[in-house]
Amino acid sequence: MRIVLLGAPGSGKGTQAQRLQAEHGFTQLSTGDLLRSAVAQRTALGLEAKAAMDAGALVSNQIVLGMIGERLAEPDTAAGYVLDGFPRNLEQARALEAMLAELGQALDAVVLMRVDFEILMKRLTGRRTCSKTGKVLNVYFSSKAELDECIAAGGELLQRDDDNEETIGRRLKVYDSETAPLVDHYRDAGLLRVVEARGSVEEVYARFLAALGINVQ
Ligand code: AMP
Repeated sequence: MRIVLLGAPGSGKGTQAQRLQAEHGFTQLSTGDLLRSAVAQRTALGLEAKAAMDAGALVSNQIVLGMIGERLAEPDTAAGYVLDGFPRNLEQARALEAMLAELGQALDAVVLMRVDFEILMKRLTGRRTCSKTGKVLNVYFSSKAELDECIAAGGELLQRDDDNEETIGRRLKVYDSETAPLVDHYRDAGLLRVVEARGSVEEVYARFLAALGINVQ
């Protein structure tokens, strides 16, 4: 399956995509992760993207489209993938359609993760990534055992640079003005499925699989 995950920052796209990759073999393609890795490696592209990311703005379509075009051409996408954080505006959505047409592929579903503003804020301010395992955790919602597991493995709980209140506010505004219009775009295309993204990771994952029509054994 080829899936797009839509939803505000903090709606749980990355967590659910990671899980779907681990359990069902769909490759997670996260433009945020690709950009953070370019920033960490100090590539020219990363340096250019960093200012926009720190400001909570979108990185230019030119950079993001180049990156995702290369990634979609890699062999691990053949068994299906979940696009996480892409597309984020109409121009990117149209460019994706053109890229897929060129590859002779089509999207199977676009899943909107719907969640209230108060929950988004807690998910974003509390979010931490384990430096050892890459697992996304949350100081408000993860169990003590999960948090301790990272430390016991020799990892640190890292907070993303853009997960501070000021930048979070800007990212949520950008979502409303630039990304939310994609909901109507994909509803009109007959691809949209909506998942209520409140509750535990387990609960959301069960709704997510149901929305995709994937049976749980
Ligand atoms: P994310 O990890 O998806 O929350 O993305 C983190 C940041 O990376 C965003 O706030 C943007 O600055 C940038 N970014 C990620 N994906 C895109 C995209 N598709 N288009 C433009 N900017 C993006």
